[in-house]
Amino acid sequence: MTTLSCFELGERMLSVSEARASLLTLVSGPLATEKVALVHAHGRVLAEAVVAAFDVPGHTNAAMDGIALNWPCAEEGVGGPLAGESPAEWRLVGQALAGQPWQGRLGPGECISITTGAPLPEGANTVIMQEQVTISGDQVNIDSADRVKGGQHVRMAGEDITRGQVALEAGSRIDAAALGFLASLGQADVTVRCRPRVAVFSTGDEVTAPGDGRDAAAIYDANRYSLIGLLQEHGAEVMDLGIVRDDDNALVARLTEAAEVADLVISSGGVSVGQADYTKAAVESMGRLTLWRIALRPGRPMACGTLGEQQVPFLGLPGNPVACMVTFLCFVAPLLRVMLGISQAPLRQRAVADGRFNSRLGRTDFCRGRLSCDEDGRLHVMPTGAQGSGILSSMVAADCLVEVGDDMENANPGDTVTIHPLFRFP
Ligand code: AMP
Ligand code: MG
Repeated sequence: MTTLSCFELGERMLSVSEARASLLTLVSGPLATEKVALVHAHGRVLAEAVVAAFDVPGHTNAAMDGIALNWPCAEEGVGGPLAGESPAEWRLVGQALAGQPWQGRLGPGECISITTGAPLPEGANTVIMQEQVTISGDQVNIDSADRVKGGQHVRMAGEDITRGQVALEAGSRIDAAALGFLASLGQADVTVRCRPRVAVFSTGDEVTAPGDGRDAAAIYDANRYSLIGLLQEHGAEVMDLGIVRDDDNALVARLTEAAEVADLVISSGGVSVGQADYTKAAVESMGRLTLWRIALRPGRPMACGTLGEQQVPFLGLPGNPVACMVTFLCFVAPLLRVMLGISQAPLRQRAVADGRFNSRLGRTDFCRGRLSCDEDGRLHVMPTGAQGSGILSSMVAADCLVEVGDDMENANPGDTVTIHPLFRFP
């Protein structure tokens, strides 16, 4: 089945999934790639798989400070049972330090002292902790030989990753662990997706920038800040276009500027029926726009369209601050994921409702919840308070959104619900 574009859906009420699928037709696929130094790669998305060029670790090495020796094993290799008697005394013939290997080959009854990370010499298969040996001159006695297992305290070459293996797939987001892993593979730079450039502005005559004076009718511009935070969390590069007055010319000027450089333009406010005209007229004068009714709460009203010859996608999000955040997560985040070529689906979990989450049949509700874990390890979720679409304090208190789908009427205490974790830093 082909997905209809945003302009073909008509006036009817849309489901969240229909609206999302249709919005995805506005983006053509992942953005271009660029090479960045590894030190600047945190939060970026790999455009190509990284393949290990060598084994990590590169050498079989000691996992403890102590002595390395050839412990007699019944079978070839390590880890087998003890084969016959082990010598009671071993002769110390050298020393290996991390970065300074001992070059010889150990003969029977010989050992060397070794530090953590130093390569095991040829002939060695086992390390015994320093605390469990007594050394006098070149004589080494093992204090409790019956507790030694052949092969112990040895890290095998390639046990982290072997040469030729895929270390990280294309589409992986580079987190702290991945940064270290890439460094261990000697990658000084990586090829990543360019960050989507997203222009963001707020609309409304009552909307005032924090720091400016506030007259009686003014409200401070919460949305632009929430959106900037969300954009950063989702790997975008933010172009902050500030606040646009409810005035045609200003809006057209700002949109024209944005469409020249941005991959996506988002605004908040000014698309409700009473005042839709400003955003609608401005976008239509330079592209296409359609106002949507989506069976989503909080989340109405919303507009989408394209700007300029490049047909840069435009999304007009609702003015109410929580509706603005929820529609970002429902509709903007998936577009960013496509532009970034992110392969992994976002985490969804199931939790037991500890309170009531209201919804209607035929409508999807995203309610603010806080997670906890019971003694059996099951996740539970509790509403964080008043759920009005302008109430940011209950969004601040939330660590997840509870999705009560359009096939469900309310979730009651004890019901199992789907949750979307919030605020994952890149
Ligand atoms: P609108 O969608 O423009 O009708 O706005 C709906 C509600 O959201 C109104 O109460 C506005 O004052 C409020 N609102 C609009 N823009 C913002 C903003 N940037 N920050 C905080 N609240 C806003
Ligand atoms: Mg429902």
